[in-house]
Amino acid sequence: PQERKILSAVLELKSKVIGQVMTPIDKAFMIDINVNLNQLLLKQIYSEGYSRIPVYDGQRENIVGLLMTRDLVLINLENSIVTIKQLSSILLRDIIAIDVETKLEPVLSYFKGNSTHMGLVTRKHKVIGSELSIMNIGIITLEDIVEEILQEEIEDE
Ligand code: ADP
Repeated sequence: PQERKILSAVLELKSKVIGQVMTPIDKAFMIDINVNLNQLLLKQIYSEGYSRIPVYDGQRENIVGLLMTRDLVLINLENSIVTIKQLSSILLRDIIAIDVETKLEPVLSYFKGNSTHMGLVTRKHKVIGSELSIMNIGIITLEDIVEEILQEEIEDE
C-alpha cells in the first residue's frame, strides 16, 4: 500500500548515508581550471552532457569550485583564448563539501533549501603522527538521492 511505500522511502532517507549513493570521484567528469576554453573543450563538455562539472586546479584532488554548463553560453569564442581561471569570477561557483557519513535526509533538505544540486563528498583521513586531512571521494547530486528513494519504492512493489 501507499503508506508502506512512503514509510520505506522515509526510512531510507534516515538510514542511508551519501557514501552509499554517490558517484565515486574517479568516475566524475571534471575539468582543470587552467585549460583554455576553446572549441575542443566545449565539444567535450557538451558530449559528456552533464549540467554540473567540478573544477580542479592542477590535480584532480584539488577541487576549487563548480562550473554550470549553462553558464558557457556567456562565453564569446570570437574573443582571444582564455582559461576558466581568467573567467572564474563569472564561471566558477562554490561547491559544498559534505562528509561521506552524512545521512541522505539532511543533504536532501540542504539541496532543496539552497539553489545547489551538487556536493563534493569528503572523508576525514587520519594517519598516525601526521595531520588530519580531508579527501574528496565522490560527488553527490539531488538526482542520486531522489533515484535512491524511487528505487526503494520500485523494489517494494
Ligand atoms: P545532470 O543534471 O548533469 O544530468 P544529475 O544531477 O541529474 O546530472 O545526475 C545524474 C547522475 O550523474 C548522478 O548519478 C550524478 O552523480 C552523476 N553526475 C552528475 N554530474 C556528473 C559529473 N560531472 N561527472 C560524473 N557524474 C556526474
